[in-house]
This record gives sequence, structure tokens and C-alpha cells, in this order.
Amino acid sequence: MVGIVIVSHSAKLAEGVQELATQMVSVTVPISTAAGIDDPENPFGTDAMQVQEAIMSVYSDDGVVVLMDLGSAVLSAEMAIELLPEQMKSKVKLCSAPLVEGTLAAVVQAAAGAKIDRIIAEALAAIKIKAFQLSEADIDIKEDSKDIEKIAKSPEKIEKIRLSVTNTLGIHARPAAKFVTKAAQFQSQITLENLTKKSDLVNAKSINQVITLGVLRGDEIEITAVGEDGRSAIEALQQLVEDSFGEDKEIEKPKSDSKEASSDVSSSSIAGFPASPGIAIGSVIPYQPLIPEVVAQKIENSQQEWENLQLAIQTAKGEIEKLASTDDTGIFEAHLLFLEDPAWIDRARKLIFESNYSAAVAWKLIIEDTIAAYQSLEDPYLQNRVTDVTDVGMRVLRLLLGVDRPSIDLPQPGILVAYDLTPSEVSQLKSEQVLGICTATGSPTAHSSLIANMKGIPAIVGIGSQILQIRPNTPIAIDGSTGQVWIEPNQEQLGELEARQNQFQQLESSREWDLEPITTDGYQISLMANIIGVSDAQYAIDCGASGVGLLRTEFLYLDRLSPPSEEEQLEIYQAIAEIMDTRPLTIRTLDIGGDKPVPYLKLAKETNPFLGWRGIRQSLEFHEMLKTQFRAILRASVGHKIEIMFPMVSSVHEVRAAKVILAEVERELSEAGIEFNQEIPVGIMVEVPAAAIMAHQLGGEVSFFSIGTNDLSQYIMAADRTNPKVASLADGFEPAVLRTIQQTVVAGRVRGISVRVCGQMASDPAAIPILLGLGVDELSVNPPAMSAVMATISSLSMTEAEAIATE
Ligand code: PEP
Ligand code: MG
Repeated sequence: MVGIVIVSHSAKLAEGVQELATQMVSVTVPISTAAGIDDPENPFGTDAMQVQEAIMSVYSDDGVVVLMDLGSAVLSAEMAIELLPEQMKSKVKLCSAPLVEGTLAAVVQAAAGAKIDRIIAEALAAIKIKAFQLSEADIDIKEDSKDIEKIAKSPEKIEKIRLSVTNTLGIHARPAAKFVTKAAQFQSQITLENLTKKSDLVNAKSINQVITLGVLRGDEIEITAVGEDGRSAIEALQQLVEDSFGEDKEIEKPKSDSKEASSDVSSSSIAGFPASPGIAIGSVIPYQPLIPEVVAQKIENSQQEWENLQLAIQTAKGEIEKLASTDDTGIFEAHLLFLEDPAWIDRARKLIFESNYSAAVAWKLIIEDTIAAYQSLEDPYLQNRVTDVTDVGMRVLRLLLGVDRPSIDLPQPGILVAYDLTPSEVSQLKSEQVLGICTATGSPTAHSSLIANMKGIPAIVGIGSQILQIRPNTPIAIDGSTGQVWIEPNQEQLGELEARQNQFQQLESSREWDLEPITTDGYQISLMANIIGVSDAQYAIDCGASGVGLLRTEFLYLDRLSPPSEEEQLEIYQAIAEIMDTRPLTIRTLDIGGDKPVPYLKLAKETNPFLGWRGIRQSLEFHEMLKTQFRAILRASVGHKIEIMFPMVSSVHEVRAAKVILAEVERELSEAGIEFNQEIPVGIMVEVPAAAIMAHQLGGEVSFFSIGTNDLSQYIMAADRTNPKVASLADGFEPAVLRTIQQTVVAGRVRGISVRVCGQMASDPAAIPILLGLGVDELSVNPPAMSAVMATISSLSMTEAEAIATE
């Protein structure tokens, strides 16, 4: 017998339909449901895995018919088929019949022993009976506007209501999301019209169509519902509109009169975590990634393209759901609705199957058209929603193209505002263009913040989503040392900030060149720089560095389609070594994973990337890639003071294994007669608690330790370095972290090797007395922080430093 699967957003609904259908027949039909999700707060939703299990549970060679309610139920069912074993796929059919009528008809036919095609035909015909009964047989329920108009003008079963919109911002993204979510709970066809703007009728279940109506406060709208539950739909939507969509009346739109706010700067400002010092004054430039070029090619297999698109959409939804779980603004809920928008899905289907476009081309066309529609809206607030469309659209496009986030192009210098930025995005930014950075999420020790710091771009992170609500071009000012953001600062505030900005810049430009990193009682501290490539090597020297204490080589591997070759790496290492001349250059081997993904390595998604496969753990398995890097480093070492450093070491075994590979490369180079420094020093990062605990044993294997306080703090304190909620815990000043640093220094002393700090703490003047007092020999700092660190060292005696550390 053919099996039947009912897929619904609601478990209760699916059970009800199943009950209704089974009581129609006297034999047992294999029926299974996949409905609702396991979330007590919001149990409505569908899940592809659940659908797949339901299909498997009623599967036989006779086949399975799957009936779905709406929206993402269809996507989940399509995904579920993808997840089935190959031999089953062709025997499972999705049926577009309405859930209740279709299921009843299908179950009756299945009980009668009908074949799968007959069952589907009966299920599809079921709605016609009702339409005939209601004299509506000519209503063709489709999403295009003509049909919508036809529905709205249908004389039968129509419910209408006219309402005035009273909430401050009108039907912008979040109210639209609420409206569409509510409308989608009803089977009726529902349309919406902006009477004030004499707009077209749009599908009330399409987020894009609803937003692009451009409904503002005071506009009159008309809602029309056609269907059995039309009355209830109208009542529910009326209540939503009359309740101002549950929005707080004083709302988040930045007020133009905020210039007149009190001279107490904090009253017109918001705050986040200070991530990179400095003051920036400029206008808001929302993060706007360039949509990448997509080459239009003839496609062979539309079905395959369609499946690729669905997979990308499902993956994007998973990513967004994760973001939504730590965000309470509803922005990501709106993003999810974009991906369920029937208008987008339908258009994609047509472009792929009828116009033979690839999934990427089809998706790009849809995104570009939607962006154009938003840009043509009158209300600047709604125009601003282009950011959301771009964000969600690009997320899917990136997945389809298998690329990381693309380059950022700023139309004019300003303060870049983004939800978050990846380390590779920040590494592309130019400080002449990007005056400052504000992100809604993120934390000061995330790699993105560190890169901003190294580039000398003031940055504030973890501000929360209110930063995303500020309109483009709004004047703002930020202080990256305190984390404060002023929206539309008044003249008095501007004057004060400009004075501080000048002071900061003067301090930077009048670097005290005569200073040496020597304490007042004569201790010389080795002061090195953290860099990411050739471009900042000279800058580091200009800032007064005595060499490079940390070259983060992973940045050579990001934003490309394949790893850099030995020759490419050699050229870079040699160029940096030449700039360093006789100064030391510590090259850290690849440290990817965590918050630095590399798409071409196709690494599986990890639940806890920071507790996962990163640093040396990965390099030991990417054996050939590590060998290539070793060859390049060794070849560059001739005549220079190059050292090799391994990241994320957690055991003696890892160090030994990496050294075995290094020895293998050295042997190969010797055999080939290629010159290299046979005594190249090898050290490790101490950034995993296990390494600190085993420092005594590890010290017997290597020439130096370099303490990575960023990772060490997050692992000691069990506080994800990218999570703003726990940013204050992932702090090197925590006594538990300081004690671990001290133990590492002691172990290093016993072993007679140097102990350095290259984590962010070494760039913080406030941490310098403590680190020196704990006995750290060398500091590796971000070049822009060099002068402040130098000034701190030269004004301090070691006795004072020790007293501070002890205290
Ligand atoms: C650290 O963890 O402190 C460190 C220097 O390494 P990264 O920040 O690159 O992880
Ligand atoms: Mg680290």
C-alpha cells in the first residue's frame, strides 16, 4: 500500500488531519506525520530530518505521497527527499494538493489499493469539489498579481477591512514580518493594498511584497481574505495592526532633534565594547558587500539547480537561526521570512525551470530586483532595509557559489556599520576609507577586532542591533577606547571629541622616538610587532618594533580559491624578512578554524569551532600543506633570524609530531641541496590551558613560549572570545589567567627558554606592569599600540612592576 506523510507547521494540525483521514477508511493505511518543531516557545515549524524519518517509516516499494501545508513545509519536504537513499528517491512524490482535502482523498485512494499516480491525481482534484460547491471553480490560486486581484474581486467568501496604520515606522521589516507570519497561519488567500499610495494588491504572505508597499504611519490599508478561515484571518490581522504590531510607541527611529540633546554626551549615545582605540567622526556607511559576478551558463539539469538552491536556502536558514538565538530584535526572524517568501521561491522556480537559469543566476536576479524595488521606495527608513535583503540574499548566493564574504566597497570615507565582520573582511579595509567600525555583535578579542587594532582603525563591537537601525549617512562619532557611540553629536560634543581626536593623533605622530623599551631601573624589554603580511611589516618597524613576534600566516590563506603555493609563500616571507633585516621574525604556522574559516578547505561545520579542529591539530592532518609552509619558511630563513611557531598546541605529542614533519622537510631540502638555516628555532604558542599545565614538559621540546592571552583567556574562563555576552569574562586580567601566565613563565625559566606574550594584552598599557612583573621577557604588540606600550615601559621600574603583579 502507498504510504502517506503529512507535513505541517503544527503538530496538532497534522494529528487532526491524520485522525480525520483514518476515520474515513476501514483498513489501516500507513500514515505518518512530520509536524512542528521541538521548541516549547515556538513549536511551529518543519524540519527536513523529521520529514525524512516520517517517509522512511511508511516507505514501501509502492511509494509514498507527501502532503504539506505551506511555505517552509514544502522546502523541508523537498530537502527530505534529497536526504533519502538514492533508490528510494524516485518512489517518493510530493503532492501540491491542499493538506486537508488532499490527505483525505489520498488516504481513501490508498486504502482502496490505488497506485501512486492515481492517488496524487485524486488528491489534486479534491479542491475542485469544494470550489464547485462554493461556485468558485474559476478561482485559480496562484501568486501572481492578476490572480491576486481576481481573488480580491471574487464576489464570494470575501472578507475585507480598511485600517489606519498607527505605529511610528509603518509596516517596516519587523511589523511586516509579524504581518506575514500571522497571515501565513491562515489557509485563506490574503491580499494587502496601500490605499493611501494607491498601490497594487500584493500577497500578504510575501514579506517582500508587503514591505515594498511602503506603508507609513497614517497610511490607510485594505486587507482582503478569501477562504474558509477568512473572517478569523481578518480579525487576527486587524488586531495586529490596531495593536501597532506590538511596537513600543517611542520606538527606535533616531530622532532628528537629537542634536539638541543634553550636553551630557552619554544621553545621546549608545555603547559597546571598546575593541580598537581612537576617535572617529563620520557618517554611517552600512555594510554593503558587492554582489559577486555570476557567469550565466547554459544549464543541463534544472532539477539539480533547484535542489542546489534549496540546499543553500536550508543552510542559510540554519545559519540565521543560530544568529537569531542570540538576538532579540527580530531582525533575523525577518531574514528567515525573506527565505520563505513565496514570491522569491516561485520566481526562482520559474527562472530555473522555465528560463533555464542556474540557481546562482536566478537568485542573483531576484536579489537585484528586490534591492531595486526597495531603493525606489520613498521612505528612507524602508530604503535602509536594502541592507537586510542584501544580507540574506548574499548569504544564499555565497553558499551557492562556495565563496567567503566578498569585498567591501565604501562609496566614501565613513564609519562602517555591520552586524559582524569576518577577520578577512577587516583585513581588506583601508584606514583612509574606513574611519571607524561599529558592529552589533563581536567581542574585543575576536580576530576581527585584533585586525582593526593592528590597522589602527577605531572599533567598537557588541553594540547590539540598535546600531543597525541608524540610517545611512547619519553623522556619528565613536571612541574606540571607551566603547561609546554618539548619534548625531551636537556641536559641543563634536568640539570635545575633535579635541580628543587631535590629542590622540598628536600622540601617534609625535612617537617618542628617543624612547627605548627600557625600564627606569635598566631592564631592556624586547618589543616586537604582530603583523599579518608584507603590507604592515614596514609600518611595524616605523612604529619602533625590534622585529616581528607574531606573523599570523593564516591571512595568506584567506580570500582565495586554493592555498598559496610554496613560491608565493617564499616570496612573502622573504619580503618581510628583508624588511626585518637582522631583526627577528617569528612565523606562526597556519591557524585556521575557530572564527577564521577557509572555504576551499571544505571543513565540516563544527558545533564548537573554538573547541574544534584548529591550529596545529589541523596542520598535522593537512600534512602536505604544512610541508609546503615549512619549505617556504626554511628557504626564506637563509641569512635571516626567522623562527617557527606552532599555534594551539595542547600536548607534547603534537609538538613532536610537527617536529618530525619539519625534520622530514629539512632532510628533503638538504638532499636537494637547498640552503636553509639548520638551527632554526622552534617555539609554541601557549594558549590552551593544557599547554600551560604541561609547560615544564613542553619547555623541554622547544626554544620559546609565546603566550596567546586571547585564546588562553577564553579557554581558562570558558568564555567564547567572539560572544559579546561573555566578553567581559574572556579577559586576560582575570586572576585565573594571570596565574596561568605566571606558571608558564616559571616553567620557561626553569627550562631556560624565553617566555613572550603576543596576545592582545601585550598591546594594553594597563597590562604592561603586570606582564613585566610576572617575568615575561618579550612583548609582541599591534603596531599602533607600540608608542603607548613603549612609554609605559620606560616610565616604570621593574620593582614597581613586580609589586603591581604581586598585588
Ligand atoms: C592569542 O590567542 O592570543 C593569539 C595571539 O593568537 P590569535 O589571536 O591569532 O588566536
Ligand atoms: Mg590564538
